[in-house]
Amino acid sequence: MTTIDSMDLRLQQIHGRIAAACLQAGRPVSSVALLAVSKTFDAPAVYRAALAGQRAFGENYIQEALEKITAVQALAAHATAALPAPAVQWHCIGPIQSNKTRAVAQHFDWVHTVDRLKIAQRLSEQRPAHLPPLQVCIQVNIDAAASKSGIAPEHALALAQAVAQLPRLCVRGLMGIPDALPDFAAQYAVHRQVRAVFDAIAQAARSAALPGFEHWDTLSLGMTGDLEAAIAAGSTMVRVGSGIFGQRTPG
Ligand SMILES: *Cc1c(COP(=O)(O)O)cnc(C)c1O
Repeated sequence: MTTIDSMDLRLQQIHGRIAAACLQAGRPVSSVALLAVSKTFDAPAVYRAALAGQRAFGENYIQEALEKITAVQALAAHATAALPAPAVQWHCIGPIQSNKTRAVAQHFDWVHTVDRLKIAQRLSEQRPAHLPPLQVCIQVNIDAAASKSGIAPEHALALAQAVAQLPRLCVRGLMGIPDALPDFAAQYAVHRQVRAVFDAIAQAARSAALPGFEHWDTLSLGMTGDLEAAIAAGSTMVRVGSGIFGQRTPG
């Protein structure tokens, strides 16, 4: 059971780590956003984090996310004038099958895991007209682990360009999930590779005045175990799960 107090404490600890990493890197603290990864944790846990000031939540599994989004809305319905419902934003950070694109387009604000044009096209077609464009990051597979999703770095620019043309998507940047590495130097080296791809695309977009890259500003990199190295390498959004919600029970 997570109390409000321990949730507050863990969120403060993560904000402290982010601030220290920004200071170390000579970056403003405001340049790094915190995405709370709530997979496997329930709606009351999300709601407690939201009441403690956390706004953005990341989910990996679509079905689990849809149930949780509904449950969090139900909790918000009990808000009072003294304790108003916090605004919550949902980010999809898991793989998306074609048959799940409609649900994602309808219920999420961001998607970090676009690695195929076909999925992006479906998301754009299925994004409801009354919602703002879906904010999208291209997932890059930087260390080429065979089991992982993500596009190869050399194809990322072409995919980003195609996504930038889609009317109901707004391309924001890149996302990476490097394999867990033991030490800062190794983590930093792999994060720097994602950053280099991010910069190369920004440069290409600038020099060719490519349309649709006006909001290319997001590098979604770093988790509980490697957020310092990710921030040193230029991450603008760290995705933290266990550091906020506690250890996930396996299975
Ligand atoms: C689970 C997960 C995270 C958070 O991992 P922690 O180690 O708990 O911080 C971040 N990103 C993705 C894509 C994840 O699946």
